Amino acid sequence: MIDDLPPLRDVVTRHGLDAKKTLGQNFLYDLNLTSRIARAAGPLENATVVEIGPGPGGLTRALLAQGARVVAIERDQRCQPALAEIAAHYPGRLTVVEGDALEIDVAELARMHGTQGPARICANLPYNVATALLTRWIEAEPWPSVFDRYVLMFQKEVALRIVATPAQRSDYGRLAVLCGWRTKARILFDVSPSAFTPPPKVTSSIVELVPNPAPLPCDPGALSRVAQAAFGQRRKMLRQSLRSLGVDAGEMLAHAGIAETKRAEEIEVAGFVALADAFAAQRPTKASAR
Ligand code: SAM
Repeated sequence: MIDDLPPLRDVVTRHGLDAKKTLGQNFLYDLNLTSRIARAAGPLENATVVEIGPGPGGLTRALLAQGARVVAIERDQRCQPALAEIAAHYPGRLTVVEGDALEIDVAELARMHGTQGPARICANLPYNVATALLTRWIEAEPWPSVFDRYVLMFQKEVALRIVATPAQRSDYGRLAVLCGWRTKARILFDVSPSAFTPPPKVTSSIVELVPNPAPLPCDPGALSRVAQAAFGQRRKMLRQSLRSLGVDAGEMLAHAGIAETKRAEEIEVAGFVALADAFAAQRPTKASAR
């Protein structure tokens, strides 16, 4: 028991919250597990936690029980009555924002609702928008943002792509380059499909991302475009794959001090930063355009 609120299974039944696949709804009913996830984001006394997709509130309750002030963004209106019950149980500590997390400036939200303590993001992310959300947060300016830690659930396959280095060739790609540039990312633990209702087809993983306070200076848009071009044709040599950027790939590689015959999978994050700088130098006004 982490609180006096009713079991989550009863909450879901009472409010008719049958899971919708289109909203990536796979709920956690086990408060021991949600407490473990909340602990990974802790200590939470005085912390402001932005949670994406609270659903019926399993993780929300664990975060609140451990002392956090929670600002939760939920797209599914049906969850509001269940979340209002939790808010009433923890007066003044839970704010629910109804909307699409992709359209909300989470740093601004944390600043508006935060206190003096640290700000974090902790979420069992809806899988259909998880990568888009993470990319947006990592590319945000200014950096470091207000958040001192991100503790997030992804499909394991995505988690492996976040923490990959050139040593894990097939997983290393744009996501790993962006996350490796601005954060230190690691997988904390796996969560089996049977922990969810309904169970997804795949294993999930909790990932911790701690912002790097002084990443190599670089334009995030340029870095993202260069990595996308390079990994878009990962079997090809860079002198070939980077041509899709519409610039002189040979000149870019020379500027970055990287051999033309290298492939994307062989280049460390610092090499991609050098390539992004070279790209921006060739195309000063268009480098960050999407
Ligand atoms: N946190 C709950 C738990 O762990 O049981 C639910 C997690 S469920 C994987 C994802 C949640 O995100 C759902 O409640 C869903 O309605 C919500 N959601 C889906 N897309 C969203 C979006 N674009 N913005 C905000 N919430 C979203």
